[in-house]
Amino acid sequence: MSPAPKKLALEMPLILVSSEVEDKGREFGDYSISLSIRYERALLNAGAIPWVMPTTTTPSLVAEVVRRCDGLMLTGGEDVNPELYGPPLEKSLQEKVHLTPDGGQRDLRECLLVREALSQGKPILAICRGHQVLNVALGGTLIPDIHSARPECIEHRRMDRRTEVVHQARLTPDSLLSKITGKQLFGVNSTHHQAVDRVAPGLRVSALSEDGIVEALEFEASSGESLPFLLSVQFHPERLEDRYSEHKAIFRAFVAACKQT
Ligand code: MN
Repeated sequence: MSPAPKKLALEMPLILVSSEVEDKGREFGDYSISLSIRYERALLNAGAIPWVMPTTTTPSLVAEVVRRCDGLMLTGGEDVNPELYGPPLEKSLQEKVHLTPDGGQRDLRECLLVREALSQGKPILAICRGHQVLNVALGGTLIPDIHSARPECIEHRRMDRRTEVVHQARLTPDSLLSKITGKQLFGVNSTHHQAVDRVAPGLRVSALSEDGIVEALEFEASSGESLPFLLSVQFHPERLEDRYSEHKAIFRAFVAACKQT
């Protein structure tokens, strides 16, 4: 037998990828796993093997799955249940929030994943909903609807331009994101109506839109501590990495960090 497959596996880290659940998948007419193929393409392009997370919420099983992977990628989807970060919303606001169709299982699973990945020192890349889940899992809060809370902001939910640059993100100097991309300002897409409000303890803002929305988070730098890679972004680099080097660089840096674990 050739040793090649083992070598290939060592060179390509295995990245656990969370998915959405649809209540009536087209093929099976049943609860179905749903995940844009762009996420796995972006990981494959960066030299990693994507591994879709099983839909379990059993803590010991989540811990075991995290143990077997080299990194965790949280993806986009429906809104995080506001009751996980604050009191119940008023009815008018409730109507603007769209929860996952699985009765809160995805919220629970992803909060468990964040805690396990951090306690096991595994790198995390969190995208869009994932960026919000990460902040909530670590004790932060969200703006449940940008329009209602900050009417002065631009429209951040541009589903019509989901693969195009919609607004700029200004990076915090010396942030991980500025080091990865080599930029202070770059264009991002924007398909969200919620945003990070209070940043969780231990995290810091690494990018803001011109109207003050938190577009990226990372670990707060603390002297002498060696922390694993952690980056969350409100935008969707997997829809831009085929054309924009700064978005490709995010996946490259994440996969490089996963190879070190
Ligand atoms: Mn935005």
